[in-house]
Amino acid sequence: MLRTRGDVMNYQQFFEDAVDQLHRERRYRVFADIERIVGRFPVATWHRSAKETREITIWCSNDYLGMGQHPKVIAAMTEAAQGMGTGAGGTRNISGTNHPLVELETELADLHGKEAGLVFTSGYVSNATGIATIAKLLPNCLILSDALNHASMIEGVRHSGCEKQIFRHNDVAHLEELLKAQPLERAKLIAFESVYSMDGDIAPIAEIVALAKRYDAMTYIDEVHAVGMYGARGGGITECEGLATEIDVIEGTLGKAFGAMGGYITGSRALIDAVRSYAPGFIFTTALPPSVAAAACASIRHLKSSHAEREGQQRQAQRAKDVLRAAGLPVMDSVTHIVPVLVGNAELCKKASDRLLERHGIYIQPINYPTVPRGTERLRITPSPFHDNAMIEVLKDALLETWEALGITSQTSSQAA
Ligand SMILES: *Cc1c(COP(=O)(O)O)cnc(C)c1O
Repeated sequence: MLRTRGDVMNYQQFFEDAVDQLHRERRYRVFADIERIVGRFPVATWHRSAKETREITIWCSNDYLGMGQHPKVIAAMTEAAQGMGTGAGGTRNISGTNHPLVELETELADLHGKEAGLVFTSGYVSNATGIATIAKLLPNCLILSDALNHASMIEGVRHSGCEKQIFRHNDVAHLEELLKAQPLERAKLIAFESVYSMDGDIAPIAEIVALAKRYDAMTYIDEVHAVGMYGARGGGITECEGLATEIDVIEGTLGKAFGAMGGYITGSRALIDAVRSYAPGFIFTTALPPSVAAAACASIRHLKSSHAEREGQQRQAQRAKDVLRAAGLPVMDSVTHIVPVLVGNAELCKKASDRLLERHGIYIQPINYPTVPRGTERLRITPSPFHDNAMIEVLKDALLETWEALGITSQTSSQAA
């Protein structure tokens, strides 16, 4: 475009318009400025403004078990930083492969009973670059992807450049239809999650594995919302159901229940070596620092033998569901630790969240489109072992007051699940 004095591109206008669009759709995101307090989880300080702070209770953290404040984990992180410094100082290939990171990969392989593990800077990156690389290495690969897969998996599927087909969420009959239509000899990768984090439902893993065997497909499972929390050693739903060895690739995060940061895949030695060698998102980025690797490792090791956190979480999540349901609140069906409460309207969902924080000191981020379908906007509550019975009562009363004040009814939440 020719730029003259009177006819210049107004670049900033495009950004302002893009943001205005979000405001109009009531899904402009506002981040709460939080300062967590070691030893008081889930209580934190909310920086309401530059001048005002308040004490709040966080009910939407993915630090599901409070491991981000576990003394062993904090000690591992600080000792590693004191002894080995802060950054890794390089990519994995060029001096960044620090010893705690190598130990972490061994620990992860063991956690899932796999030959090898590979750590990335986040779970997002592990999915995006992992799926893309695996699919690209297979000739003419078809990716079969669950309709509710996480954005990072969708990114990996897109980035692979491979043909993809979406199967209806957890619908094995639909998946079989799609598999059946393909030649047996064609490479196929089935990508899905174990626990779906917004609804709290679980994939029919055994049935998907059976289909994969029948139609000679590979399987890739995202266990991000299950690792640390399910299975006798925290190996996720695949451990719980004795299916870890049946799945080709198990992916997870170190940033949620493990309370640190980073992501990973585990699988056969050959597959991990190939991804290590070909994945741009693994190769061309600075390695995880020793302090973070040591913290993650300490957390995984602790949760391999300690059941108290898992049991406490399950107990309090069930209690929260029971108490909220008994009070008449629209708790959606969830078979896991996730407690979604339906609002069904983006604006009301945001207002409910604001009111809970302002009036009740309860922090639950609203979950709106595109994270969930329109009309199913919700408050996603994640009780931990540290959300005690008294806190659950306070939460129930605050939700009831909010529902009443904002006039949230089963009409506004039209699509009760
Ligand atoms: C959070 C999340 C990820 C990404 O993990 P991070 O470590 O936070 O980048 C991947 N998959 C699912 C299902 C998630 O919810």
